[in-house]
Amino acid sequence: MALSLANLSINQATLRQQCSLDQAITEISEAGIGGIGIWRDKLHETGVSQARRLIESAGLKVSGLCRGGMFTGEDPALADTLSASAVFEDNKRAVDEAAEVEAQCLVLVVGGLGPKSKALDVARTAVADGLQKILEYARNAGVVLAIEPLHPLYNADRSVVSTLGQALDLCDILGEGIGVAVDVYHTWWDPDLEQQIKRAGHDRLLAFHICDWLYTQRDPLLDRGMMGDGVIDLEKISCWVQDAGYSGQYEVEIFSKFDWWNRPAKDVLEMCASRYRECCPH
Ligand code: ZN
Repeated sequence: MALSLANLSINQATLRQQCSLDQAITEISEAGIGGIGIWRDKLHETGVSQARRLIESAGLKVSGLCRGGMFTGEDPALADTLSASAVFEDNKRAVDEAAEVEAQCLVLVVGGLGPKSKALDVARTAVADGLQKILEYARNAGVVLAIEPLHPLYNADRSVVSTLGQALDLCDILGEGIGVAVDVYHTWWDPDLEQQIKRAGHDRLLAFHICDWLYTQRDPLLDRGMMGDGVIDLEKISCWVQDAGYSGQYEVEIFSKFDWWNRPAKDVLEMCASRYRECCPH
């Protein structure tokens, strides 16, 4: 008998070009897959309360809402000005939306250096301050926050937090209500990965994103591979995550403008399910 797909989730980025949120919900539940990771722009198109109804009636779990964060704004040196308050307001909205769709976590991409700065230390301080501020709000709303470290390639424009170790250092300082999202695309190269997954432990491993790193990439953002098509030892990393006590869904997140975004949603989901069965230990 085929293995259940209840523990599989599809991040909407995987069907970004093919589906609205309504369509993605239908396709994913028809494929027998148990969860969805939602992006806020798609959520806004459908409307939060309508989305909630659709998710409920499809019986899907929301493995995460993408995304909050971006605490550094255009220039981290200006992090206490008007733009920072706009960032805070947007993060509050993200928390409220995560609560409304009952997301397992709100995924945070913390923000990069910005085009006008060279001061990584300033940016990292702005991130720590931003996290602390939104964490209080999230605790009151009953939403857990998941810092997603991104590959060092994105330090300039997306995330000055690059390793799981860095993310966990922040969690250590911040305390309850915050953990990490481990995305194999961003973390597979890290010599300290096994150790840091152990360190995160059951309480702080809040999301697990899977895909593959193609040996040759045509785009640094939008050319991720299907599990099994690249160089990531997904079986090994999955074992580490499971051994650390992770009990959440495996969320497929593939940005792929050259390949998977150009195929029918049904075909993509069929391949996600079959590679999940093949590449991840059960
Ligand atoms: Zn991810």
